[in-house]
Amino acid sequence: MNTLSARLNRLEPSATLAMSQKSSELKAQGIDIINLSVGEPDFNTPDAIKAAAHKAIDDNYSRYSPVPGYPVLRQAIVDKLKRENDLDYSPAQILCSNGAKQSVCNVIMAIVGEGDEVIIPAPYWVSYTQMVKLADGTPVIVPAGIDQHFKITPAQLEAAITPKTRAFILCSPSNPTGAVYSKAELEALAEVFKKHPDIIILSDEIYEHINYVGTHASIAQIEGMKDRTVIINGVSKAYAMTGWRIGFIAAPEWIVKACNKLQGQYTSGPCSVSQIAAAAAFSGDQHCVEDMRLAFERRKKLIVQLCRETPGFEVSEPDGAFYVFPKVSSYYSKSAEFSNIKYQISNNMDLAMYLLNVGHVATVGGQAFGDPDCIRMSYATSDDNIVEAMRRIRQALALLK
Ligand code: PMP
Ligand code: GLU
Repeated sequence: MNTLSARLNRLEPSATLAMSQKSSELKAQGIDIINLSVGEPDFNTPDAIKAAAHKAIDDNYSRYSPVPGYPVLRQAIVDKLKRENDLDYSPAQILCSNGAKQSVCNVIMAIVGEGDEVIIPAPYWVSYTQMVKLADGTPVIVPAGIDQHFKITPAQLEAAITPKTRAFILCSPSNPTGAVYSKAELEALAEVFKKHPDIIILSDEIYEHINYVGTHASIAQIEGMKDRTVIINGVSKAYAMTGWRIGFIAAPEWIVKACNKLQGQYTSGPCSVSQIAAAAAFSGDQHCVEDMRLAFERRKKLIVQLCRETPGFEVSEPDGAFYVFPKVSSYYSKSAEFSNIKYQISNNMDLAMYLLNVGHVATVGGQAFGDPDCIRMSYATSDDNIVEAMRRIRQALALLK
């Protein structure tokens, strides 16, 4: 009775979603919480995209779509990949899913089996390791701390490869650090992969457009890499469409076919109306993307400056995405008393809970991302919220002795 599978028991809950939930619960109790925990744009979906969705409803896009997505959406993605990334794909190499999260999970479930190793640079997005475990694979973590701007070196990659290595997960721009690999850095990693032709690269490019250092570089653009790379992307971040749930893969056809089979048994094609909205996002006027990027860049400068002014915080300036990942370990082993409650800070989780309970700011402990020295803060929120959140954080930290 009431027993769960070993697979389920191995799974950890999503720390990002858990912290966001906690912050919503406190808000519901009337506590004024500033939520820097979950990573999603605070903007509304642009009007032209919403209009396309209204029209899709009126045009009766109300039935099952093909499992990999409507042809109009797959073609819009093919055109996007050519226009923005100079990459040639055919619609048969595209599969759309219920958010980029399902896209990542599909690929891992399709290619990783028991005993297979998947190399994941740390800090990593919380779900990668858990998805690999769901597939009975073994995550192999390659740590890249703040001193190396959270990016791994080719030598580290080489050292992590074994005969069991099945895949490598690259996230650039990175959640949670904002690190961005340059074309030259990707070329150096590709040199290592060339010696190991059986390793598949999952390139999560969901933050492609939130880049502060120039044009996005994809490892698939490097000669010899496209046939072994799965690009993961979607509309959630670039077009402020997290709730619409449309992500995609661009991949060799054998991987698309495998994911199609899996998705056909698991969820079918993603939401019909959202697909038409996503096609409009990829094909329409792209000014909205740049407008949002500029706002994120302004907020990045603001929060980085405020982090630098915060005693005990060490920060590596993010080159993309909308997160800062300061090193905060100088506070571990300190304590404070507040409202007759004693708080002992031993690690990142204690500090995140302390900042929530005493500072009323929700962040996420770095442990869930594979770096317990840090905490993650999302700056996808208003400038006023950023200023007030950092004021509260400094005030709470000042009590720790
Ligand atoms: N990859 C990364 C690195 C992410 O941060 C996210 C957003 N949580 C996703 C994938 C999933 O995006 P989506 O909302 O499209 O499922
Ligand atoms: N990208 C977001 C984050 O990392 C979404 C939450 C999630 O799916 O984990 O906070």
